[in-house]
Amino acid sequence: MIVNEIFYSLQGEGKLIGVPSLFVRIAGCSLGCTWCDTKYAWAPDAGTDYSIEDLKQKILAKETRHIVITGGEPMASPQLAELLTAIASPNRHITIETSAIEYIGDLPCDLMSISPKLANAAPNDPLNTETLQKLIDNYDYQLKFVVDRPEDLNEIARCLENLKNVNPYNILLMPQAATIKEHTEKLPMLAEICKQTGFTLAPRLQVILWGQQRGK
Ligand code: SF4
Repeated sequence: MIVNEIFYSLQGEGKLIGVPSLFVRIAGCSLGCTWCDTKYAWAPDAGTDYSIEDLKQKILAKETRHIVITGGEPMASPQLAELLTAIASPNRHITIETSAIEYIGDLPCDLMSISPKLANAAPNDPLNTETLQKLIDNYDYQLKFVVDRPEDLNEIARCLENLKNVNPYNILLMPQAATIKEHTEKLPMLAEICKQTGFTLAPRLQVILWGQQRGK
């Protein structure tokens, strides 16, 4: 399995913001989002090729409850289930960060952290609502939408209209921002949207703390 980087940091986004976690970034993503902050992990061979056993040893060497499997797009990796089965334990909490382009069932995953890509990211593939629905129906989840402008709310509303059984408390809106300046400038717009809709405003701690620095 090709892993781009492994690093210990704080979860920067979502319900577990601020929780110290070990990040395992799987190489490979085909979506090509314009504002992607991990373009260096797009290529399927952008990293080190580990056996699952070696990767397990490397991950478990760090004493931490929280492990975040990110990418790239981890759900596109054929070895994901094998890796998760190797590291799963009642003492560990596993988050998968995904854009919902693929569905895999029965993964030992405690939080499916889904960030469906809107038109503001100009993804290569449109959102597949069927795949997204399966993830929502079969995992504990959060839905993190990246908002760049107020009009994005119309697209989020259309997306939600096509889904069933979405818990509104699981919907988080994050600013599209690569720098702390952009992040700060977009927060008031997001605050107004969240007051209107009841969705939760979710700042991006990694942008506030480290801007575009890699592996922090
Ligand atoms: S889905 Fe995520 S990793 Fe893939 S291009 Fe988009 S932002 Fe980057």
